[in-house]
Amino acid sequence: MRHIDLRENIIKTALSLNETGLSAGASGNVSARVEGGFLITPSGVKYHKLRAPDIVFMDMQGNASGDFVPSSEWRFHLDIYKQRRSAKAIVHAHPAYATALACLNKSIPAFLYMVAAAGGKDIRCCRYHPFGTPELSEAVLEALLGRKACLMSHHGLIAFGDNLEKALSLAVEVEVLAKQYQLVLQMGEPELLSDKEMEDVLHRFWTYGDNAQKVEDEKRRKPRKVWKSGISYPKRSTFYRRPDEKDGM
Ligand SMILES: [Zn+2]
Repeated sequence: MRHIDLRENIIKTALSLNETGLSAGASGNVSARVEGGFLITPSGVKYHKLRAPDIVFMDMQGNASGDFVPSSEWRFHLDIYKQRRSAKAIVHAHPAYATALACLNKSIPAFLYMVAAAGGKDIRCCRYHPFGTPELSEAVLEALLGRKACLMSHHGLIAFGDNLEKALSLAVEVEVLAKQYQLVLQMGEPELLSDKEMEDVLHRFWTYGDNAQKVEDEKRRKPRKVWKSGISYPKRSTFYRRPDEKDGM
């Protein structure tokens, strides 16, 4: 069996959906990109019963192989991997606060700087379509433009990242933001951060943590480019991309 460690990590991440309260029972699903396709949790199996061989491989044409059928929501996983090169792992869940906002078709606006953690100035909510449909995939991809997470109307949330840990932690962050936003709304309508303030936060995020050393190296090699906003960014390279760019194929 190939990718044993990744399969175990998918199960660990799926169990974390239960532990963090992101999803109860077998709801939600987790996947990770591998060569030629991706691995995804099977349909309808409780996470605590999952074993490594139960994780389903699906190729980029949507053909599944394994003892179980893939999650009934495999289609948007496939389409995100096709469209977003930076997506290496995806977490989908139905947590209470994010789903409650999504039932009102509400996006999460720039009420707090941490909204930028999803890659943009807000976290959009995509239109409702039934699960598993190409229409839902299309709506999800649109809401994810320049973002690594979105809400799904009358459904839940999706987050992706460089690996399973990052995808899970972004999903948790979005749920926390949804909760905080609802607490704020109970007290009144918050004043939102301006576009310029959010651009500043996004710039700080891009040059923080994992990216910090890469950006420093880049700055030493290449001249800085000044964008229309007046904020200067290091010149882009293959490893450093503005997250509001569409990834493309
Ligand atoms: Zn779902």
